[in-house]
Amino acid sequence: MNLWLPESSRCGDIPRISGGKIPFMKLLLACIGAALLLAWASPAQAGGKILRVAIDVGHCAETKGALSARNRPEFAFNRAMASAIGRELKRDRRLQVFVVEAAAGLPLKKRIENINGLKPDLLISVHHDSVQPGYLKEWTCRKAPAQYCDLYRGYSVFISGKNGRPEASRALAMSLGAALRKGGFLPSVHHAEMIRGEGRRPIDINLGVYLYDGLVVLKDSRSAAVLLECGIVKNRSEELILRNPAYRKKFARAVRAGVANAIRDRAL
Ligand SMILES: [Zn+2]
Repeated sequence: MNLWLPESSRCGDIPRISGGKIPFMKLLLACIGAALLLAWASPAQAGGKILRVAIDVGHCAETKGALSARNRPEFAFNRAMASAIGRELKRDRRLQVFVVEAAAGLPLKKRIENINGLKPDLLISVHHDSVQPGYLKEWTCRKAPAQYCDLYRGYSVFISGKNGRPEASRALAMSLGAALRKGGFLPSVHHAEMIRGEGRRPIDINLGVYLYDGLVVLKDSRSAAVLLECGIVKNRSEELILRNPAYRKKFARAVRAGVANAIRDRAL
């Protein structure tokens, strides 16, 4: 059971996750500490190689991706999470971060061509997950019919073995999976199920890492590339938690740790 997922089958508002008010003195000390840390992190740190990171916001304003259990388009989730991950990664002075949104209607081939044009060292394509149609149930949310599935929840990381840097992609995916597990997030196993539309080959099911050669944005990438399904928006509880900024920040911090560990291990 994921620590961060309170059960909810209600259609209502997003739950708060924060741990209550922070005393003023604690906040002041934290600000002073952060300022000192920034001053200490001298430009010498930037003397090493700067890695270029492209964060692809999955889908676009036109296609939108899957619909959540409350009929919210996946693109809105992707945009919010990509922005949170971008903010976190920008805190690492070794990284130059680009959050990339494709124009409406841009074909996938052109999307990855544009990303390759940015010459990234690594690509993280941000998505949110659905399930196969056979698992969907009907309910009504805000007087509108909607579909949900509360059976599965959790993140998944996909890579292709056919892109420009398959080994680096695999190492990055493993590092991200490990950091997410360490951060308290659980992977979903539903992609490994041997049914129509799934049957993805797990590279490490405990870390939520799968091989999916056919994904264009991964296959045609010249850099190390992963596609991150951050959670399942058809799950009524997980949808709500994914809409919480504190949860996204926590998730983004784990992604940042995963990237940092991959750099430490010289995987990129
Ligand atoms: Zn998607």
